[in-house]
Amino acid sequence: MNEAAVRRDLVRYSHAMHAAGFVANHDGNLSARIADDRIVCTPTSFSKADVERDTLVVTDATGRKVAGRNRPFSEMSLHCAVYRKRREVRAVVHAHPPLATAFGVAGRPLPHPFLPEAVVSLGAEIPTVPLAAPGADAVEALSPFIRRCDAVLIAGNGVLAWGPDLETAWLRLELVEHICRIAHAALPLGGPAALPAEMVAALVAKRRKGGLAAPEEGLAPLGRSAATPPAVGDDPAARATQRALAGIPNADPRLAAQLAAEIARAMGR
Ligand SMILES: [Zn+2]
Repeated sequence: MNEAAVRRDLVRYSHAMHAAGFVANHDGNLSARIADDRIVCTPTSFSKADVERDTLVVTDATGRKVAGRNRPFSEMSLHCAVYRKRREVRAVVHAHPPLATAFGVAGRPLPHPFLPEAVVSLGAEIPTVPLAAPGADAVEALSPFIRRCDAVLIAGNGVLAWGPDLETAWLRLELVEHICRIAHAALPLGGPAALPAEMVAALVAKRRKGGLAAPEEGLAPLGRSAATPPAVGDDPAARATQRALAGIPNADPRLAAQLAAEIARAMGR
């Protein structure tokens, strides 16, 4: 996509972010990579309602400004970290959508997965990045998640999503908030019911087959050696997931065991 089209989309989705109520004050930031060493991004200290083509900033791959009269935003280091670890990613967006952000500030994991379509679109895991000070600490906290998924909740901050273009990154961010809105509406009714593990496993397999999965999606839970399959133990959901995955041709048994344990964990079993 050429720079003019990227600038048009950055303005469009900045305005959409503000109109959706996902940001206040100067919150939120968007960027798009137009070449290996060139990123166009929103300026710091601007309401997303006021972003226009000529207010955008051009940086190099490290986030250092190379063109534009404004300054890049301070969370640019998070965007650059995503671009470094995911060659195919061309856009990163960040906002504080109120319901998703509420889960992060309350120290609660996002309610997921309970909608089949959301598993196909976002995978079985929307992890929460632990709270970290802005800057290098925040980058370090985010880094382990970048190749595992396409959207994260950052505790004490908001949602960060990425994709091959701005539209996809925006739709992912929007979907995370929509899931949380539905979960919130379901709370007085007893809360959303987790999807059966067999269904999650089938949806994950469909996503992988369709080429939608992140490069390291479904690998061992963080902090556990990827070489050691996690114990599934007596958890019936995890064992059912493992059985379902065992029926997939060419499925890697180690990956199946890891995925089974991850899904069980995500379902709070
Ligand atoms: Zn933020």
